[in-house]
Amino acid sequence: MRWTGVPISMPAQPDEPPDKPDRPAKPQRPPVDRKARLGIPAKRPQKQPAEERTGNWEEVFSLFDPEVAKAEAMRCIQCPAAPCQKACPVHNDIPAAFWLLEQGDFDAAANVFRETSELPEMCGRLCPQERLCEGHCVVGKHALPVAIGKLETFTTEWQRVHGGAPSPEVAPSTGKRVAVVGSGPAGIGAAERLARLGHGVVMFEAWPEPGGVLLYGIPDFKQNKPAVARKFDDLRYLGVELRTSVRIGEDLEWTALRDEFDAVFLGFGASEGATLGIPNEDAAGVYSATPFLVRANLEPAQLAEQYRHPLPPMRRVVVVGGGDTSMDCVRSAVRLGAQEVTLIYRRTEAEMQGRAEERHHAAEEGVRFEYLTSPLEVLTGEGACVRALRCQRMRLGEPDDTSRARPQPEPGSEFDIECDAIVTAVGYNVDDEWGDIEPSLVRDRWDRVVVEPDTMRTNLRSVFAGGDDVNGADLVVTALADGQRAAAAIDEYLRTGDW
Ligand SMILES: Cc1cc2nc3c(=O)[nH]c(=O)nc-3n(C[C@H](O)[C@H](O)[C@H](O)COP(=O)(O)OP(=O)(O)OC[C@H]3O[C@@H](n4cnc5c(N)ncnc54)[C@H](O)[C@@H]3O)c2cc1C
Repeated sequence: MRWTGVPISMPAQPDEPPDKPDRPAKPQRPPVDRKARLGIPAKRPQKQPAEERTGNWEEVFSLFDPEVAKAEAMRCIQCPAAPCQKACPVHNDIPAAFWLLEQGDFDAAANVFRETSELPEMCGRLCPQERLCEGHCVVGKHALPVAIGKLETFTTEWQRVHGGAPSPEVAPSTGKRVAVVGSGPAGIGAAERLARLGHGVVMFEAWPEPGGVLLYGIPDFKQNKPAVARKFDDLRYLGVELRTSVRIGEDLEWTALRDEFDAVFLGFGASEGATLGIPNEDAAGVYSATPFLVRANLEPAQLAEQYRHPLPPMRRVVVVGGGDTSMDCVRSAVRLGAQEVTLIYRRTEAEMQGRAEERHHAAEEGVRFEYLTSPLEVLTGEGACVRALRCQRMRLGEPDDTSRARPQPEPGSEFDIECDAIVTAVGYNVDDEWGDIEPSLVRDRWDRVVVEPDTMRTNLRSVFAGGDDVNGADLVVTALADGQRAAAAIDEYLRTGDW
């Protein structure tokens, strides 16, 4: 029996690569000629030319050709210390997977990724590999690092197309029931592992469909939506019940949830778009990133009622921000047909937090970058609609509390960028509604849920949390790792009753 995606063993520990006595034996790897491997030229998958891809929403990169993937995997020098694996938040055994891949055993290579990750297809596409695995790849000290992310995506997608992964073992039912609030990467990591451990899992999601930001945020050109839908087929196969369009605290009372379930995992993310705090920010034509992205990327039926009307045509768009979300917004604006798309960011490119690859793609697609530029005021015209964004130039001063140079205004440098739409992508906060839903849940001053880091336990008995609601806006892979860690702790709690 095959299903569409399966991790094979139990939760990874966060700090060290997992020690797994029950893991299938890896084939012996003979020593490799490292010097010779360093001379193998780097390979990359085919990329849609910019002028073509701006006319569609398809992914930028094709999957690797199988023979090319094998050749790229052969660039891995199989270093015993595997710094790539240590740098991966879920500790994928990258050298083992690439050894199998270069032997042509794509299926087994994919299973190595699935041992430690519930979302290898997504992480291969979305992780900032230059900061994580590829940033620590020893080959990268001499040449381009091994294309770890793209090979992860290739093996796991190849497996999906060629019959799927072996069905997982599911432990006998424990009779315990766990509620998972939120169906993003954190909820997925928790739900899948808990279901495999024999617990009954019900996942609650406020949006009409499950996936969290994987569906309601990240556009198709970075990651196609069928990969997300397949993940939920896997979860249903494992017996996870999905209740969508249910917002805990609104459609279902928190107390009712606690009464019904033996444990709760909170993975509700950080979805409150930060605002600019400038005059006229509420003018017609100013959008917050998520409402803009979901209306650009999804069908009305997939959206909550207030977002079902289509975006109006836009010719000149200004996006404010410097992270991955801002790149998703500028590139979506290009695909929506805008003729002029400008990104403004108050520091320089060196301080930007998103992936360099995304910036490169945006520049290839014709986006204009205005660095050291800060918004001052939205200017409106006819019908109180946006007509321009007034900006000022900045210069960098002393580092702030995030160690990044603090931008300072240049007096007398104001200028206007004419536009008919402005998108604000300046970060996300954790929703403060939890202060009302459960006042005794301990949160910090940024509304993040406070947890005990090894177990993801909150201050409330039987309530665990992880992902962006704990870390603030972060990454798919860190949310996933939190969900995995919480699942192990929830399992222990349900089995022992110890708190
Ligand atoms: C536009 C955008 C692009 C991004 N790009 C990248 C990228 O390229 N790479 C990367 O690694 N990360 C990226 N991120 C960050 C990444 O998506 C998040 O860090 C990750 O999704 C967090 O996972 P999560 O499960 O904690 O929360 P989410 O994915 O936010 O999921 C939380 C879910 O909980 C639901 N929910 C909230 N409150 C309730 C409630 N009361 N009841 C029921 N359900 C509720 C929400 O509707 C949501 O679906 C991006 C984020 C955004 C917004």
